[in-house]
Amino acid sequence: MSLDAFQRSGRFFRGNLHTHSNISDGALAPEAVCAHYREAGYDFIALTDHFIKRYGYPVADTRRFRTNRFTTIPGAELHAPANSQGEVWHILSVGLPEDFAPTGEEETGVDLARRAADAGAFVAIAHPQWSSLTVEDGRALPMAHAVEIYNHGCALECARGDGAVLLDTLLNEGRSLTAIATDDAHFRYDDACGGWVMVKADENEPGALLAALKDGHFYASQGPMIHAAEISGDALHVECTPAVNIAVVGRGSRAVHIRRQQATRAEIPLERFAGDWFRLVVTDAGGRSAWSNPVRLPPAGG
Ligand SMILES: [Zn+2]
Ligand SMILES: [Zn+2]
Repeated sequence: MSLDAFQRSGRFFRGNLHTHSNISDGALAPEAVCAHYREAGYDFIALTDHFIKRYGYPVADTRRFRTNRFTTIPGAELHAPANSQGEVWHILSVGLPEDFAPTGEEETGVDLARRAADAGAFVAIAHPQWSSLTVEDGRALPMAHAVEIYNHGCALECARGDGAVLLDTLLNEGRSLTAIATDDAHFRYDDACGGWVMVKADENEPGALLAALKDGHFYASQGPMIHAAEISGDALHVECTPAVNIAVVGRGSRAVHIRRQQATRAEIPLERFAGDWFRLVVTDAGGRSAWSNPVRLPPAGG
């Protein structure tokens, strides 16, 4: 919960944290999935096939598809009963050990998410709107590091790609959570490269990327780049690729925005967010957004 990504040393690495291969229900082999992202200029991906019995509880071994400029983080999308809709949970786990044990007969989705977090994984609540998750579902997963604020596949297939309501509701309750954008690509049509994270780390290496994810040293995007986001005095100073709207949002209806033709910098007053949380959203002329992680501010004068 900070803007440390923009202050700390290192460089930004672009990655997709949620994608599927023909190890589960995706169309392409793991090698082709990795090649697709490598050729699209990504620095890393996590291949997160469905961790269920039908597919043999896979944590795909993608090590041989790494190159000197592209890496992979082992992961999976975990499933077990049952969320508030009576359906299996979809819990994204990035940084799983490759020998992560199959789901037990009695294990619930909440148990499984806990076991993944205890094993060192970065745990995210996948596609809240697609799953119609409630705030009780969010409360049931206190170990989660992040919420998918955008899931590209869910947006394309049923216009339910947004996760901001669940994220913001949990932030209102005091939770510390970060915001990721992902593809959830299955490659049965052109569903890749629509949502990603920019992770600040010293090197493009799985351990460094995983630590940076857990520390919140990243932002999420569908297109725009955020070059700087720094609090100075009572304002947020932002530098970004050309944007038509630069907004800070917080609790309830609190929001402050600057709307211009092609803004590449802005100073946004933060008084309304003192003693509470805010996050930055930068939107370009094509309607694509980038999202900072949430930040908690001290009280005014504090
Ligand atoms: Zn899913
Ligand atoms: Zn998925």
